Amino acid sequence: MFVALDENNHRITLTSHQQALQLTGGRFHCPLCQQQVFIKNGVVLPAHFAHRQRPVGEGEPESAEHLAGKSWLATWLRQHERPATLEYYDAAIRQRADLLIHQQPPKVLEFQASPLSIPDLKKRTTMYHRRGWQVSWILGRRYHDSQGKRQARKFLTLENDVLTLWYLNVQIGTLSRLQLKNKGRFWTHYAHNNPPNQQWQPESVDGYRQARQIALSLQKCARPWMSLQALAYEGRHNLQGAPWVIHDQPHPLRHFGVPELRLRAHWLLTFEGRNFTAAQSQRFWVGALPDIWTPLLPAGTLAKKLDAHWLRLIKNAGFIGFDGSRYRWRQLPQWFADIDRKLANTTRSSE
Ligand SMILES: [Zn+2]
Repeated sequence: MFVALDENNHRITLTSHQQALQLTGGRFHCPLCQQQVFIKNGVVLPAHFAHRQRPVGEGEPESAEHLAGKSWLATWLRQHERPATLEYYDAAIRQRADLLIHQQPPKVLEFQASPLSIPDLKKRTTMYHRRGWQVSWILGRRYHDSQGKRQARKFLTLENDVLTLWYLNVQIGTLSRLQLKNKGRFWTHYAHNNPPNQQWQPESVDGYRQARQIALSLQKCARPWMSLQALAYEGRHNLQGAPWVIHDQPHPLRHFGVPELRLRAHWLLTFEGRNFTAAQSQRFWVGALPDIWTPLLPAGTLAKKLDAHWLRLIKNAGFIGFDGSRYRWRQLPQWFADIDRKLANTTRSSE
């Protein structure tokens, strides 16, 4: 940590090795647990305070990444003239926010470099909200992946109705905003001394590979696919020959542990050939995607996104139409008898 209290209970923020050198010999204590802390002023890490004994419930020892990340964010806010306090300790909620931006309403930045459980994420976020503060979670290296990672899913938030995640790469010094759109990922990268740069990563898929993977999962008797196969047999279908349309335009959420492909097959087996309402379709997706996965999103958000994306896709492909109250089938997608016949018939494949 960069902040401790001196003998007069004044806040001391370490910002340089030189300053740390001048403070050597002073007595400091932790604002959270009151334990005495000492200055660590080595060559590898920025100068910081550390507890002599590992404190309970403070998430220490602090990693190099976490120290570097907080320091990077503090510099970035200073450069953008956003008044903020590093390691803001709030006595009312007994929490130390990594950074508090002084705006209306105040906003906390939490740089999360270590594992965090969903209940703890929810608890901390709720605590800040009750205090009247907004909070943004910024993810460290363990959550990084250019396409997406299941561990990052719980941090998804809505910004301007777009699914959003924030990442900080302290090694290259870049803060990145990821916006998940229906057809890909939109990145905005911020660095200390450069203007932001933007990057569009379209979502693409190898339908053949996915089709073979379904067949393989069934050969290996993978459980969720096996119960779906049982449902398919009831409708005299073979899951290995599922229509090509389930592979079309996948949502980038699939990289966050959302089993979109399997749910599309399940959806088809549920609704194919029967008129249905928008509410019925939405209920299917809500039932399949638990809200506990995404504690920072309003209930049903992932379900609504995937439902809308899928209905638009099969409507545009001419399978269904909407008559003002119900969706009606115009044409049924083609199922194949087995994987070989599916792979041989590419007419409905978009790739
Ligand atoms: Zn402490």
